[in-house]
Amino acid sequence: MLIDVELTPKQQEFREEVVAFTEKHCSPEYVTQCDENGEPPLDIFTKIAEKGWLGVGLSPEHGGFGHATEVVILLEQLEYSFIQLGSLVSRGAMYPAGIIADFGTPEQKKEWLPRALRGEARAVIGISEPATGSDMSSLSTRAELDGDEWRINGEKLYMSGLDYSQIIFLAAITDPDAAKRKGVSVFMIDADTPGIEATRLKTLGAWQNRTYHAHLRDVRVPKDRLMGKLNEGWTVLNGHMERERAGLAGRAVGAAQAVLDEAVAYAKTRNQFGQPIGKFQAISHKLASMQIDIHVARVATYDLARRIDAGHDCKTEAAVVKTFASEMYKRAADEGLQVCGGSGYLRDSAMQRHYRDARLLTIGGGTSEIQRNIISRALGL
Ligand SMILES: Cc1cc2nc3c(=O)[nH]c(=O)nc-3n(C[C@H](O)[C@H](O)[C@H](O)COP(=O)(O)OP(=O)(O)OC[C@H]3O[C@@H](n4cnc5c(N)ncnc54)[C@H](O)[C@@H]3O)c2cc1C
Repeated sequence: MLIDVELTPKQQEFREEVVAFTEKHCSPEYVTQCDENGEPPLDIFTKIAEKGWLGVGLSPEHGGFGHATEVVILLEQLEYSFIQLGSLVSRGAMYPAGIIADFGTPEQKKEWLPRALRGEARAVIGISEPATGSDMSSLSTRAELDGDEWRINGEKLYMSGLDYSQIIFLAAITDPDAAKRKGVSVFMIDADTPGIEATRLKTLGAWQNRTYHAHLRDVRVPKDRLMGKLNEGWTVLNGHMERERAGLAGRAVGAAQAVLDEAVAYAKTRNQFGQPIGKFQAISHKLASMQIDIHVARVATYDLARRIDAGHDCKTEAAVVKTFASEMYKRAADEGLQVCGGSGYLRDSAMQRHYRDARLLTIGGGTSEIQRNIISRALGL
């Protein structure tokens, strides 16, 4: 990278370790193969668990290390080498481990935290429904207490990773008479519980994530699988929102850096009209603009992480940075493909994958429009 951010020697060392790891395990051929075959890189996920990195951002008392800055370092570097690997790690391990650490009972922590950190409790998030997207308060999946069990009925859309996850963090209505957002609870459900039927959705990109539409019919869940307090599911789901958005911004920065590096390499070696195309100002300025964008997004992302680490309330900053970084990556993927011309459009090119996968980052984790609503409200509008 041309311009770096300031890291402590320990953070720098951690980053170098992650870079060495990805150089060893994430060859471009392997990355393409996972994407084309829709295969999540579970072997690399296991190796990341063996490194102890799934506990990033958790306190040492819970078996973890580092803070939001280390989360960003890890996700940025993973995503640089392997688009969507950062998503697998954050969704599959960091997010559930964070929820269990913060909201789990002592028994839940004892049983599930070590499994999550070993990579044996990969989780899928079940919030979205056919009629529930940005407006998360309009859920209709219902959980009713029946003796010693919860009985859950409903439908969940866009469940990423359902077929290779062990647990589902599922949001359901537990008090239908409560005011909006008050009567929702979160359950930790075994993914192979009878009554869950799922069909795979065809998506534009992120093929290796594998996304499902699931129906839940009389799914029975032991009483002790309630996560956090009854009817306080929003507190659980929003507990890590700022760190999640910082991580997502870090992923966007890493992926955009990969786009820039690839586009620069191509611009230096592709000759047209007797010279490298990078000598044409139309091309070099695109790359310079990309560099400006990436640097600004990286500085903003690390600043956000540091402010989270310092204990500040960062709701607005997280919305600003998530929006800027994800939209920046989308622009970079578009321009990177343009620089690579027809070769960027071929299915074995990383550029077309960036072009497809970048689209998801302005939708997932709260759409750009919803982030702008948060920012507008902070402006008093
Ligand atoms: C590939 C993929 C994987 C996913 N994985 C998961 C997962 O694992 N678990 C999960 O729970 N969800 C998942 N999602 C769902 C994702 O979180 C939602 O797509 C996202 O929250 C947006 O909801 P929606 O798609 O229903 O869009 P909608 O909310 O219907 O929005 C449609 C458009 O209207 C805009 N809009 C909506 N409300 C407002 C408003 N108030 N002001 C301004 N504009 C507004 C939106 O920004 C958007 O542009 C996934 C989605 C995709 C595509």
